Amino acid sequence: MRCPNCKGKDIGKIGSNQFYCWNCFIELTLSNGRLSLHQVEADGSLSSLDDLFAEEERRVETDF
Ligand SMILES: [Zn+2]
Repeated sequence: MRCPNCKGKDIGKIGSNQFYCWNCFIELTLSNGRLSLHQVEADGSLSSLDDLFAEEERRVETDF
């Protein structure tokens, strides 16, 4: 599994369906084989990045 944003592999698991990219600091949530991407803002809130990516880019090729 690669980060759709930076294509990096430095992804850590933070929950049952949640992952975190240590390279670009975004949160990845896996549901139905697709990733939802959220950026953690300075105040701790999350903003969705899904609109920035095509559906193919958010599809997960490999299961954990
Ligand atoms: Zn990344």
